[in-house]
Amino acid sequence: MKIFNRAILKNLNGNQIQKAILLFGPPGAGKGTQAELLASKFYFYNLDTSRVLEEKFKNAKPGAQVKIHNAVYPVADELAKRKKGVLCSVEFTAFLMNKRIAEIHGLGKSLILSGSPRSLAEAEIEMPFLEELYGKENIHILFLDLPAEQTIFRNSNRRICELMRHSILYIPENANLKRCPLDGSRLMHRDLDNVETIKVRLEEFEQTAAPLEDYYRRHEYNLKKINADQYVENVFDDIIAALGPGFKVYEM
Ligand SMILES: [Zn+2]
Repeated sequence: MKIFNRAILKNLNGNQIQKAILLFGPPGAGKGTQAELLASKFYFYNLDTSRVLEEKFKNAKPGAQVKIHNAVYPVADELAKRKKGVLCSVEFTAFLMNKRIAEIHGLGKSLILSGSPRSLAEAEIEMPFLEELYGKENIHILFLDLPAEQTIFRNSNRRICELMRHSILYIPENANLKRCPLDGSRLMHRDLDNVETIKVRLEEFEQTAAPLEDYYRRHEYNLKKINADQYVENVFDDIIAALGPGFKVYEM
């Protein structure tokens, strides 16, 4: 419910332009953390693909399926893919994402997408839809660039909180932390965060990143690279700089 309050605040204060910021980069580049920061500063709606999928899996009844055009996607099959560390079906993911994007846009909200679209095929479904709703000039794509060995190190050591899925980075200050500093809920490792699974995810990311980047350039989207191999606050500063002078911190 917190996210809805933020968005309402933003609208009451007359920010007319609806923007969409896409954070793109390998697992562990800090997309989720930066998305949370951006959402707090600008009252954007933070739409995370993992959360959309995990909500679907959590709420689905046994035998549930999603029908898209003439195809049928059993939810259990998609969950099995995710558990193996491979991406869910493009159509399944894009369908759930576009549905949420339309809802968010319809409520007059700006949007942050962290890690979506994840592949060229997904971009081909989601980007025209996003462009239709938000307009190309209001879409900013930020590539959080991180070396492979950093991706593996960060992911195999990170934890998330039970309540809000805040990502707790592996830094010495966090080593003895038992509970989330933001909401007090317990910290846990996800099944997705063992080294072998991370290597699979990283390989998948690398295979899809180049065609995605090419797609964004060919379609003349506003794409900027950000060095993610630095402190969270420095990455955030670089993001703000990349978004240009139109982005001012909203003061309550
Ligand atoms: Zn938390």
